[in-house]
Amino acid sequence: MSKVLIIGAGGVGRVVTHKCAQIPEVFSEICLASRTKSKCDAIASQLEREISTAKVDADNVPETVALLKDFQPDLVINVALPYQDLTIMDACLEAGVNYLDTANYEPKDEAKFEYHWQWAYQERFKQAGLMALLGCGFDPGVTNIFTAHAKKHHFDRIDTLDIIDCNAGDHGKHFATNFNPEINIREVTANGRFYEKGEWKETEPLSVHRSFDFPEGIGPKDMYLMYHEEMESLAKHLPEIQRMRFWMTFSQQYLTHLRVLENIGMTRIDPIIYQGQEIVPLQFLKAVLPDPGSLGESTKGRTCIGCVLDGEKDGQPKHYYIYNICDHEQCFAEVNSQAVSYTTGVPAMIGAMMMLTDQWTGQGVFNVEQFNPDPFMDELNRHGLPWKEVILDGKPDVLKD
Ligand code: NDP
Repeated sequence: MSKVLIIGAGGVGRVVTHKCAQIPEVFSEICLASRTKSKCDAIASQLEREISTAKVDADNVPETVALLKDFQPDLVINVALPYQDLTIMDACLEAGVNYLDTANYEPKDEAKFEYHWQWAYQERFKQAGLMALLGCGFDPGVTNIFTAHAKKHHFDRIDTLDIIDCNAGDHGKHFATNFNPEINIREVTANGRFYEKGEWKETEPLSVHRSFDFPEGIGPKDMYLMYHEEMESLAKHLPEIQRMRFWMTFSQQYLTHLRVLENIGMTRIDPIIYQGQEIVPLQFLKAVLPDPGSLGESTKGRTCIGCVLDGEKDGQPKHYYIYNICDHEQCFAEVNSQAVSYTTGVPAMIGAMMMLTDQWTGQGVFNVEQFNPDPFMDELNRHGLPWKEVILDGKPDVLKD
């Protein structure tokens, strides 16, 4: 029996709230708070049980502390934007509340995805006797847990890891992003980066691509090498891995639109003066793009996110693929959201459940691969994200070099 405060009433916040509400034996009291309270109320009105809602500006630490002291939750699930991670962590420390998020902190004026800002809170959380669980969505999140599961049950040594994120869904719009457009476009237009033998190697944005044949009828799709934050924590916690890469699929239509927007300066994150007022072009673009939370109704198709690993077991080489397939329309039928929000929100709920039921405990700041993957993997199967694992004959050709 625990009280949870969810901050952020966007696409992911909606899924987390629905999923927590389905499990009253763990989440006995829920408060959903966000910058725009009407969005919280709209989500609350879709639920079969009562939850409370509140307005909070999570950039403002005293305002967030006041809400925490008033509601007195056991845990904050932060599904606002990565910009709010540090202020919400500060508020949690001041009010004595545990913390969970799904994306690492990013400064607003620089597209930089690094854990060091949040890892720097280690001593303060430890001394306060509190736990912060970072990056508990799908990627980061489940992909780290898939890797921990592979290490525990399938490998004595992992040599290479390729994380592959495919959205084979179609929302019927010319151009839209499946989660917050500002965060998504900052991520996609950044340089690619992969990890090899203890070093990070940079590539031009979206310059390296391969075609991967996805399972269960999804078929071949072009995927592009990108930087993604889970590689940073996996390099720290599983240093035996010699090479790590992250790939994401994009359609030609998405890439063509993105290229045009970039070329004309609409993805810039530095402020410009427009009619005497400072605006950030990417923030203006976000305001005119479809709200990802509204895409659920029209999105069809499936996502397939997983990990291809190779290494050694009992002295023999081993090749292994683990993945989840998630159907956009089924997600919408269950929680009024498309699969990208669903695949993020369900793991956030399960991570919260791990903490609140004392299956994952600790004092300090943690990434998900530091815990026993087994109970989390069981809950994925129970709560809408079943996974499959396949022992491969060899490494897929497209991932060989
Ligand atoms: P949305 O933009 O749909 O929702 C963000 C929500 O946060 C909105 O309700 C917004 O309020 C609220 N918010 C923004 N700023 C503040 C603030 N200062 N105080 C309080 N609330 C605020 O984003 P998503 O739901 O798509 O994404 C949520 C998070 O999930 C992001 O951090 C994203 O990076 C992460 N994510 C993680 C993934 C993973 O697999 N690990 C995958 C996808 C997303 P308002 O409506 O007023 O703007």
